[in-house]
Amino acid sequence: MARYTDAVCRQCRREGVKLFLKGDRCYTDKCAMVRRPYSPGQHGQRRNKMSEYGVQLREKQKARRYYGVLESQFAKYFEIANRKKGITGEILLQILESRLDNVVSRLGLANSRPEARQLVRHGHFLVNGSKVDIPSYLLKTDDVISIKENSKNTAKFRELAELAASKNIPGFLEFDKEKLEGKVIGVCERADVGIELEEHLIVELYSK
Ligand code: SF4
Repeated sequence: MARYTDAVCRQCRREGVKLFLKGDRCYTDKCAMVRRPYSPGQHGQRRNKMSEYGVQLREKQKARRYYGVLESQFAKYFEIANRKKGITGEILLQILESRLDNVVSRLGLANSRPEARQLVRHGHFLVNGSKVDIPSYLLKTDDVISIKENSKNTAKFRELAELAASKNIPGFLEFDKEKLEGKVIGVCERADVGIELEEHLIVELYSK
């Protein structure tokens, strides 16, 4: 059955970067950012100069779409980051990186963040031995992420296990290829963030 696939790729084209929302396809020539690397819509190929506000807004939208977070939730993450001591933009990224769906994706246990979100919602993952089906669940240092025993032997997870074995794991995570188990071993350093972002623009946007 044909599927309408453009809407997801439009998000990348709108932000002008690959957001890696469609798994394997993102790494092929079929990627819309390879075929049509300009904004969607009738005037997409025009180069308009953006206002300062526009630049800040686009940076926030890029982060929000990359992590698959709704506007209100993103604002809440900013509030939490803003209340903590330290560099607000970096703390915001640490919070986003600690979401369960992001960690599942970064461990290679899903082809993309949207797929990770769906697998988490379907209850395939355990955190410290207990089922967690909330994609926005925030993980802490020493939390262990594993696959439910029944799910491990499905064709889907056998295929994902191969992917995970070949994946580069960021420094704040550890992955046991035998047990198919991940562990959070610290907070995400700035260099480990999976997308190029100027997070200070997001801070400036919310500080207006
Ligand atoms: Fe579509 Fe993935 Fe390419 Fe983005 S990176 S345009 S989601 S194929």
